[in-house]
Amino acid sequence: MRKVRVLVIGSGPSGLTAALYTARAQHSTVVITGNQLGGQISTTDEVENYPGFPDGITGPELVENMKNQAERFGAELIFDIVTEVDFSKGSPFYVKTDGGEEFSADSVIVTIGANPRELGIPGEKEQVGRGVSYCATCDGFFFRGKKIVVVGGGDSALQEALFLTKFATEVDVIHRRDELRASAILQDRAKAHPKINFIYSTVVDEIKSGDDGLVSHVVLRDVKTGNVYQHKTDGVFVFIGYDPNSKVFGDQLALNDEGYAIVDPLFRTNVEGIYAAGEIHDSIFRQAITAAGQGCSAALMAIKWLDDREDLLQPLDAVATPAGD
Ligand code: NAP
Repeated sequence: MRKVRVLVIGSGPSGLTAALYTARAQHSTVVITGNQLGGQISTTDEVENYPGFPDGITGPELVENMKNQAERFGAELIFDIVTEVDFSKGSPFYVKTDGGEEFSADSVIVTIGANPRELGIPGEKEQVGRGVSYCATCDGFFFRGKKIVVVGGGDSALQEALFLTKFATEVDVIHRRDELRASAILQDRAKAHPKINFIYSTVVDEIKSGDDGLVSHVVLRDVKTGNVYQHKTDGVFVFIGYDPNSKVFGDQLALNDEGYAIVDPLFRTNVEGIYAAGEIHDSIFRQAITAAGQGCSAALMAIKWLDDREDLLQPLDAVATPAGD
């Protein structure tokens, strides 16, 4: 069992910022990165709205910078996923990983983020990697010269639709209402783009494949008229929002009905010494900069909490054993 002062779960902008702050405050900090270092921003092609980069920066570059900055102050990144937690007896908290590591941490900062939501329709799961994708940056390249659909009407859908025009000949955005949710600036850009068409008030009922096993059609339903028809496409990119990655916490953290962590305005969860930042609790702002700011705030709270109980903390070289073992 490895003992650390601060364990950060997740490595998106909130996690890497939290780690930068706690490590710089001289608290030993380990980050369990999750499957994807950097989280969702690492799959974003161009980040234009992160302050300090007037010409924009790619998601992977931004992540690399954040990682290097946290490591410069001593944060250690471990490429692993958390499989089990025991927060039940208060600090120190116990965390196990898929790679078989066990940690005891005086404080935990949960920045585990959220995952793309699936449509849940026939053909979707089966065709992932054969024409169905949730990541334009990862898969857009495979659709050079092809015709694709993007499902969703929010910022993600339009931003990714615009990105996909670099590859595809035609991008049809399918939205379930007759009004987009996306911000005006993205709407203006997408509507002005010659390769982007909009299919409103329409849902995808099924994704079909051809003899080659690749996506060939989607079955669309006009929700106003009830008309059901087939629409030819080579790919389906789904951007319909995200679900928080909170399952691993079971009933050990207070979550709302949608599974988002409940925090107070100081980023404290219901467990003293555990903080949450970024998309694991924030379903509203969801920006790299807000996630980073929240990670900073959560870290400052954790630092204060650790400093206030300095006398109670065990030395880091002590072998920790879960209470009751
Ligand atoms: P979102 O804003 O929640 O939009 C999700 C879209 O998917 C909505 O249009 C929604 O339709 C649709 N949808 C949801 N469930 C569906 C289903 N089962 N079938 C069909 N359509 C479905 O999610 P998002 O676009 O991922 O954005 C999340 C947050 O990140 C937002 O706050 C956004 O501003 C932010 N963001 C910002 C940027 C940027 O600033 N450049 C880029 C990406 C994301 P309804 O509209 O009918 O609900």
